[in-house]
Amino acid sequence: MTIKAEYIWIDGTEPTPLLRSKTKILDSVPTELPIWGFDGSSTNQAPGKASDCVLKPVFSCPDPIRGGDHLLVLSEVLYTDMTPHKTNTRAQLAEVAEKYASQEPLFGIEQEYTMFKGSRPLGFPDSGGYPGPQGPYYCGVGSDDIYGRPLVEAHLEACIQAGLGISGINAEVMPGQWEFQIGPLGPLEVSDHMWVARWLLHRIGEDFGISITLDPKPVRGDWNGAGAHTNFSTRAMRSSYDAVVKAAEALGKKADEHVANYGHGIEDRLTGQHETAPWDQFSYGVSDRGASVRIPWQVEVDGKGYLEDRRPNANMDPYVVTRLMVSTCCEALA
Ligand code: ADP
Ligand code: MN
Ligand code: MN
Ligand code: MN
Repeated sequence: MTIKAEYIWIDGTEPTPLLRSKTKILDSVPTELPIWGFDGSSTNQAPGKASDCVLKPVFSCPDPIRGGDHLLVLSEVLYTDMTPHKTNTRAQLAEVAEKYASQEPLFGIEQEYTMFKGSRPLGFPDSGGYPGPQGPYYCGVGSDDIYGRPLVEAHLEACIQAGLGISGINAEVMPGQWEFQIGPLGPLEVSDHMWVARWLLHRIGEDFGISITLDPKPVRGDWNGAGAHTNFSTRAMRSSYDAVVKAAEALGKKADEHVANYGHGIEDRLTGQHETAPWDQFSYGVSDRGASVRIPWQVEVDGKGYLEDRRPNANMDPYVVTRLMVSTCCEALA
């Protein structure tokens, strides 16, 4: 039986990498997915004279678009000597995740994104000008306020069929802006599932003639940006409030390093307005959606749980963000 295996990888485009994929035909359902390769000179990953890069499968799941036994195959990029390519941020996460595995870190990531039709966000008038001000769109219902739901539903169903750890969806504050959540899962799992969920979103968008952007500030002015709030806990935090506070304070001590690696253009989004804290001032607080890090009210009531790092941009690399959070917080909690 012929299997179509869609090999997916992350390229070397700067400042924000793109997803790439191509199809390998296999004669039967494989016991082990074969390594493969691609032309790195076309993806900013190699010079033309030595263009070969290696794809090493690291996570695979059923392909909900092709159905049957067809597969999606997320892959790491390696050099031909089988060492991790410099754009391979997953390999760096794998080391840190292993080092702190005994603390059992878990992540739930809220991925916000914006739909575009041509050069304008979906729901913005074709004739120019702007829709009514923000207010009714977040978690709204009805054609006056909601744009793109058929695509959102198709994406949700695809993620479930693929077996990804998707935990919810909602319409966002700006029209044409939506969110899905992946997790809670360990650092490698949440990141692998997030990249595949992003790939599915772009891919299904093709069928609807809608493009997806993870631009953190797709419209200037009084319109919300797009983030990727990253919720985090360790086993200690899930049983002690002190540990939650300790983790929040550890994040404060390394704020500059984190902000510099939380997605390109973060200064444009973390302005102190639109439910953000200024990018250059760290703060944390209970229930505070104007803080860098929020401790949900239920966590304070329960005296245990998790924290929400509200700073990561929608265009962040989950391999990088979860690596930094694990190393900073788990080192402080060790
Ligand atoms: P918000 O109120 O910020 O919009 P969401 O419901 O969108 O919150 O997202 C909350 C996220 O927190 C979910 O993705 C969920 O998986 C995650 N989460 C819940 N408990 C934990 C935990 N103990 N550790 C890590 N993440 C968690
Ligand atoms: Mn949310
Ligand atoms: Mn949100
Ligand atoms: Mn949130």
